[in-house]
Amino acid sequence: TGSLLDVHDLSVSFDTYEGRHDVLDGVDLTVNEGETVALVGETGCGKSVTARSIMGTLPRPPGDITSGEIRYDGADLLADEAAHERVKGDEMSMIFQDPMTYLSPVYPVGSMMADVATYSGGRDASWWEILKNLLGHRADREAIRERSVELLDRMRIPDPEGTLDRYPVELSGGMRQRVIIAMALINEPDFLIADEPTTALDVTVQNQILDLLRERVEERDLSMLYITHNLGVAREIADRICIMYAGEIVEVGRTEDIFDAPLHPYTRGLLESIPKLTGFEGTGIDGQIPDYTDPPSGCRFHPRCPAAMEGTCDVEPVEEYAVGDDRTVACHLYEDGMDFEDAAAIAAD
Ligand code: SF4
Ligand code: MG
Repeated sequence: TGSLLDVHDLSVSFDTYEGRHDVLDGVDLTVNEGETVALVGETGCGKSVTARSIMGTLPRPPGDITSGEIRYDGADLLADEAAHERVKGDEMSMIFQDPMTYLSPVYPVGSMMADVATYSGGRDASWWEILKNLLGHRADREAIRERSVELLDRMRIPDPEGTLDRYPVELSGGMRQRVIIAMALINEPDFLIADEPTTALDVTVQNQILDLLRERVEERDLSMLYITHNLGVAREIADRICIMYAGEIVEVGRTEDIFDAPLHPYTRGLLESIPKLTGFEGTGIDGQIPDYTDPPSGCRFHPRCPAAMEGTCDVEPVEEYAVGDDRTVACHLYEDGMDFEDAAAIAAD
């Protein structure tokens, strides 16, 4: 299986009254076919900006993609707007964080699902779509209704038929999130981007939603980019994890490898801040994500890093080093091509 989504060297800036913010700095990210990748980092690290760039929903201006490529199944999405529209309509779907922002209060669930289904393929419906809508409207409506009921049922929403006629305010937060997922699935996408879809929910409901998502992803062999600040959630859902700090990917590895042996000091800090989950104990990470108008020189993490080396980390920009098998880390403690055992020994030191 090859890579389905390939983000290469993506840099994004924002112009604000405070000045220019370099929010993403050379992000590399790959999602293979049938794979779930979690993009993990603190609030404000650039996760949502990455998602929006991929979905083509980055507001431009003030956002500005200053370099990079986003390839989906070979198509160059930043260079080819028509391809981006097509991919967005037919192949990618986004699951949002806050259902109430995306569900209209004045339409019942069924009519919103029908809207999403009807407007697949982007806004420029082809002649065929228009013709189909004119000729086959009734039939389509029936089919869409059936598909909606089936999806709501798959999301274990009690009384799916009745739910189609309900308004979002009549549903609990967990039920609304299930509706959002059903909507994202209605056009049978191959690729899902989920932006913290369980953050607002309590842990029990969160786990139910994760189970439903994982079930669907496995059943349909979907690929997914799952965005979260919560490493515990990432461990539940992801095959691989990308750790992001201040607009840069600092470590990438298979989920079990990241948990067994975190290499980057930031990843270690994240794990240490949830000792119950990971068995790592320590002080966590002090300080905050830096100001993007004037990011730290060298490694962006150096002001917060307990392992920072003066004269190196504050001066030399970091590169991504391949360490062992299927692992990269952007940190001066390591060297490109290092054995995994050697790297793990350095990390444990
Ligand atoms: Fe810490 Fe230096 Fe590695 Fe950055 S490059 S994470 S400052 S040790
Ligand atoms: Mg966000």
